[in-house]
Amino acid sequence: MKALVFGGPGQRSWDDVDDPGIQDPTDVIVKVDTTTICGTDLHILKGDVPAVTEGRILGHEAVGTVVETGAAVSSLKQGDRVLVPAITSCGRCGPCKAGMAAHCDAVGGIGWIFGHLIDGVQAQYARVPYAETSVHHVPEGVSDEQVLFLADILPTGYEIGVQNGRVRPGDTIAVVGAGPVGLAAMMTAAIAGAGRIIAVDMATSRLRHAERFGATHTVLGGENAEQEILAITDGAGVDVAMEAVGVPATFDLCTRVVRAGGTVANIGVHGAPTTLHLEELWIKNITITTGLVSGTTIPTLLKLARDGKMEAEKLGTHDFALDQIEEAYDVFAAAGEHDALKVVLRA
Ligand SMILES: [Zn+2]
Ligand SMILES: [Zn+2]
Repeated sequence: MKALVFGGPGQRSWDDVDDPGIQDPTDVIVKVDTTTICGTDLHILKGDVPAVTEGRILGHEAVGTVVETGAAVSSLKQGDRVLVPAITSCGRCGPCKAGMAAHCDAVGGIGWIFGHLIDGVQAQYARVPYAETSVHHVPEGVSDEQVLFLADILPTGYEIGVQNGRVRPGDTIAVVGAGPVGLAAMMTAAIAGAGRIIAVDMATSRLRHAERFGATHTVLGGENAEQEILAITDGAGVDVAMEAVGVPATFDLCTRVVRAGGTVANIGVHGAPTTLHLEELWIKNITITTGLVSGTTIPTLLKLARDGKMEAEKLGTHDFALDQIEEAYDVFAAAGEHDALKVVLRA
């Protein structure tokens, strides 16, 4: 089969590789029908994720069709359409039972193993371990693109932004960073009943997108952002400030615009230390949360997609055939230039 293979920092290629086979009785093999590229894949290509070794097939988000099942698999059969989420869950270990598959003990204490610790789904076929406790049947009548982004960014925005941030109906929230994950946070915050959603970004093109994803206010990032956000809230600050960039300046902004008693929900993937100004924050009664998605909300999100309450497919701005994946990487890596959010790759 063909797959997108990591060849070390800066190196990727659409290569001929061996077909995957069943290794454990809880595995299934899936024919990948639709997949996408994540910002994390770009980090891997930069060499930021040393656990990913040369020769690894990348990708951790897919919709596919089951073509083979392991001996212990009884609730999945050939021909089933499934969503393969970023997080694998053995369903048996302590963290999985506690609803925190992000830290599943079965494979190295982390649930994100596709395209990381094992071969991923940017390929014609993929081996899916712990299949019954990890994948989700795609509801009938729902298209691949309607559910593809439920593999990673929508549950990330919902669990790490909205749930960790404890967004309540009527809340005013700020989402700093209007990239795909920030937009997913806005979309799910709107569903959770947030009243005012303030999108903050350095790019006006992304702020325009934000308005399609539930933002009621937009603020251009930079030195005036803090004052503008505070002005919208009559100086009090927002109930929840979500960080969806992953750099010190945006995290700091979140801590400066959150109201006393509010929550800073960090979603961004950080690569450098950040100064936490406890000398100012200790007195504010704020909560700061972080996290890696577990995917516990995917069944809820699937129902919302099925019933037309959430148009997740709006995140897909560029379409490619799976064998055009190298071109898709070029477009996604230069997202600003192409006004791209997520790419959709179809087999
Ligand atoms: Zn991802
Ligand atoms: Zn587990």
